[in-house]
Amino acid sequence: MQTGKLIVITGPSGVGKGTLVKRLLLAHPEIYLSISATTRSPRLHEEPGKDYYFLNKREFEQMIAENSLLEWAQYTENYYGTPKAPVEERIKQGQNVLLEIEVVGAGKIKQNFPDSFSIFVLPPSLEELELRLQSRGTETPEVIVSRMEKAKQEIAVSQQFDHRICNGDLEMTIESLEKIIFPD
Ligand code: 5GP
Repeated sequence: MQTGKLIVITGPSGVGKGTLVKRLLLAHPEIYLSISATTRSPRLHEEPGKDYYFLNKREFEQMIAENSLLEWAQYTENYYGTPKAPVEERIKQGQNVLLEIEVVGAGKIKQNFPDSFSIFVLPPSLEELELRLQSRGTETPEVIVSRMEKAKQEIAVSQQFDHRICNGDLEMTIESLEKIIFPD
């Protein structure tokens, strides 16, 4: 049986990765979206086990110690990581797997899984990125400042990924994304 593809979508917080992933999964429900573990507190409307596995720091560090994560990273104040077993299982069964993760973790996947492919989503501008973060209304002004600082560092290394797309017009971005993932 042919193994599935490991597809990584990365880019700064607020750039619209989540929206792109939702649209992609609507059109391709056969893709498995990995559910990450995080030590961040749930936002309003986020469901444990659906949006994230919400863990405390000790539980997360235990997953690291047990080598149960495919990758993990500290992003601003919190840990985020990809549980290994479900991803490996799906790929072995021939299913395509999608990770929506930040840039350090995406870099680790690229190093450790040379057959994976990664797409870096860029904002049209830093001003636009800040507006998107503000209009999402889920982060405090202090968190927005630290996410914008992080975004500048992330964009600076975006060349290391296999593809870069700019998320300006949503429909055009979806189209480019589909062409990259399903080239035939
Ligand atoms: P948020 O707190 O906004 O949900 O996520 C913050 C950042 O962490 C986003 O860029 C998101 O893509 C990233 N992220 C989510 N899950 C993971 C993961 O499992 N691993 C890594 N490295 N980053 C993740």
